[in-house]
Amino acid sequence: MSPIAFIGLGHMGGPMAANLVKAGHAVRGFDLSASSLELARANGVTTVASIAEAVSGAGTVITMLPAGKHVLAVWQELVAVVPSGTRLIDCSTIDMDSARKAHALAEAHGCPALDAPVSGGTGGATAGTLTFMVGGDADVFAGAKPVFKAMGKRIIHCGAASAGQAAKICNNMILGISMIAVGEAFVLGERLGLTHQALFDVASVSSGQCWSLNTYCPVPGPVPTSPANKDYEPGFAAALMLKDLMLSQAAAEDTGMTTPLGAKAAELYRSFAQAGFGDKDFSGIINMLRDKAAAE
Ligand code: NAD
Repeated sequence: MSPIAFIGLGHMGGPMAANLVKAGHAVRGFDLSASSLELARANGVTTVASIAEAVSGAGTVITMLPAGKHVLAVWQELVAVVPSGTRLIDCSTIDMDSARKAHALAEAHGCPALDAPVSGGTGGATAGTLTFMVGGDADVFAGAKPVFKAMGKRIIHCGAASAGQAAKICNNMILGISMIAVGEAFVLGERLGLTHQALFDVASVSSGQCWSLNTYCPVPGPVPTSPANKDYEPGFAAALMLKDLMLSQAAAEDTGMTTPLGAKAAELYRSFAQAGFGDKDFSGIINMLRDKAAAE
């Protein structure tokens, strides 16, 4: 197995790179942050001082970066130094336009490329149970599958270049909206004198069931593992939910359509983040919904 280069060793990339090491891959990692490098080193990643050093001799390069502008800047650097044929995989959640540009950049340099954003959060990254949503040629996908398997449980080929990003932003638009729907229902239930447990017991086995309710219930009690039981420590931070909702809003605008509930969800998460809760779990938005209801 040729070495894997991993660029971006943050909350997600760090544990993902560690799982590649556990699966027997030699991993060379690079990040701008000294603390991320230190943590990666403790997990068996060989850390280096530059992108050029990380990719030297690597058959596969993985990026896990904050946003499209970071991915494009790093991929510009990558294609200038890797031999053609080097497989480039971006696992970040980025805008559709940047995803298309990254694929075009790779293609112009003869590098097979995949967009492969993930869901499952930092818990899934650590446990190696992420879901990968992958866009790109079927044969490139088939070749990269063992690499994904070392970091995830469900590996889904969504279609051609950038289809993985499309699936990710559509999924997270469902998630953002459904969490608000569940939050509103619990606040209304409180006003009607219904206990949280009673509403959960009914809705979680009835037509209201969804992941935001059944697995990630936004009130403490019914689902002991949900962030509501830990003062809404993330989990999945509200700022990241806002970022993803803005990506789906931009994509909707590009395609000339509107998503009224997606737009409203983005507006509500923006208010929540601006009120100082961007680093709290996104399910904490129920507290803002309750306060708003009380104020009206
Ligand atoms: P993070 O900020 O913890 O990590 C990003 C890392 O990239 C940082 O360590 C930063 O120093 C590094 N970086 C930035 N520019 C760089 C450059 N030019 N060269 C090298 N390193 C550079 O973010 P994260 O939580 O790991 O998220 C990464 C991506 O995964 C984002 O696109 C995010 O939307 C997505 N994502 C995050 C979660 C989550 O729960 N955190 C879940 C799913 C998807």
